[in-house]
Amino acid sequence: MKQCFLQLVIILGCTLCVFAQTKPAADLIIQNAHVWTVDASRPEAEAVAVLRHRIVAVGSSQQVEAWRGPHTQVVDAGGKRLLPGFNDAHVHFTDGGMQLDSVQLNDATSAQEFARRIRERAAKSAKGGWLLGGDWDETKWSPAVLPTKELIDAATPETPVAVGRYDGHMVLANSLALKLAGITAQTQDPAGGVIVRDREGNPTGALKDAAQDLLFKVVPPPSHDQRRHAIERALEHAASLGVTSVQHMNPDAADIAIYSELLEEGKLTTRIYAAPLIPHVDDQVKVGIRRAFGGPYLRIGAVKAFADGSLGSGTAYFFEPFADQPGNRGLLNEGMQPISLMRDRMMRGDAAGLQLCTHAIGDAGISTILDIYAEIEKAHGSRDRRWRIEHAQHMAAKDFDRFAQLHVIASVQPYHAIDDGRWAESRIGHDRASRTYAFRTFLDHGVRLALGTDWDVAPLNPMLTLYAATTRATLDGKNPKGWFPEQKLTIQEAIEAYTTGSAYAEFQENEKGSITVGKLADMVLLSDDVLGIDPVKIREVKVLKTWVGGKLTYDREATSR
Ligand SMILES: [Zn+2]
Repeated sequence: MKQCFLQLVIILGCTLCVFAQTKPAADLIIQNAHVWTVDASRPEAEAVAVLRHRIVAVGSSQQVEAWRGPHTQVVDAGGKRLLPGFNDAHVHFTDGGMQLDSVQLNDATSAQEFARRIRERAAKSAKGGWLLGGDWDETKWSPAVLPTKELIDAATPETPVAVGRYDGHMVLANSLALKLAGITAQTQDPAGGVIVRDREGNPTGALKDAAQDLLFKVVPPPSHDQRRHAIERALEHAASLGVTSVQHMNPDAADIAIYSELLEEGKLTTRIYAAPLIPHVDDQVKVGIRRAFGGPYLRIGAVKAFADGSLGSGTAYFFEPFADQPGNRGLLNEGMQPISLMRDRMMRGDAAGLQLCTHAIGDAGISTILDIYAEIEKAHGSRDRRWRIEHAQHMAAKDFDRFAQLHVIASVQPYHAIDDGRWAESRIGHDRASRTYAFRTFLDHGVRLALGTDWDVAPLNPMLTLYAATTRATLDGKNPKGWFPEQKLTIQEAIEAYTTGSAYAEFQENEKGSITVGKLADMVLLSDDVLGIDPVKIREVKVLKTWVGGKLTYDREATSR
């Protein structure tokens, strides 16, 4: 008792001496801003003060002025909109960085244009060097037919080609690449994959899902310098778009090594949470890493799994066949064959305290993962796990309640809705399409959303994601009032899901995701007020400045000078 009293005196004494000292001055004050804090206790403000990496004051200009000292940098925001930095809950960061330098096929509007761009790139490439990247989308061509090796063979006799479909679930190889990979008419389809064939049974060059691995295993991995260059490009790109945190799904171990190298050099300008693939779950288990392990710039402790393929490739796994392919219900990923293989890996990861993030697109794919999650909860008891389903694209009506009961987070990418919305109904019919990218229904059921892009599958630009979530206007202009408009989000809901929602999905909602005293000073200043303008105009909004931990990582004025 006496000891307690003594401790109390010491604590009080210290508190008093802290007060007696002069208050430290802020390093940075942003004033004259139109702040939307995403903090319900104080949604609007005019100014923010930052000391070292964190926010120390949010309020009126007068309140924040008290933090000004002789060395405080003061930024006049000119009345522009200031938001917390965006946290992209699902990216393929290295692929994105590589894509910035590779052949661009996504906006090719015909098979001829696709072939022309590959021909030009091959003419400039070193002999024997692989031509990769691409992100082609045959649905933008007419007719919308899959490309074949014949389109590009004549122009690429000495260049092996492996250009990917934009969704990552299909690749087109030329004849040389097929030869190097030993893929012939005799090669059997692997579990979870399809070698597309012509009438005679010869490979056309298109390889779906697990069949892609037959090809990629002969593609030399990028060198350390190539990989580092790609990540540096990606960091720069993220800063220019106001993306201050990303959650890197299925990185290679070499990507994480480069993050830690950049961290050590003070060059990591975007915060990373990395979720390596579940077949490597034991790597994290054996060193005792748990969810969100690490520091403010680099965390690991999640695993990424695949339940199925994609809608566009016809490999998303459904209860009923595709509307346009009566014999096809899609494919379970090879890691789900048998399902017990996935269950065992997930059980091991969960027992070790790792977070599970599972790609599931078709209704049966999602349902199967919810079954496994429920089995894990039964076996290991309830806990704050923040399980995620990545994409959660086509929901069975019966599963929304289960999703909520298991506290699963829907990690969704609104841009996919305005992209796939062009043709999704023709693939799965009206009824299933009505539960596609069902963001509103998720919220109505109490399911938390985390927003992202799936970059390099879709653009990293958060303005396109906000535009997509609030308008649901498909890219072909055919649904100006919104495709299944009842599923639109308000701009406030979309911003919240993209900041606090994504932070929650990586166990970091107390550290970031809102402009709140004590949190990391990750903020973005925008050219226009996304909360006030017509949602149709959101896609034109530009980022003026980006701060990560109070450090300016992008300045539009400086780059346009
Ligand atoms: Zn992805």
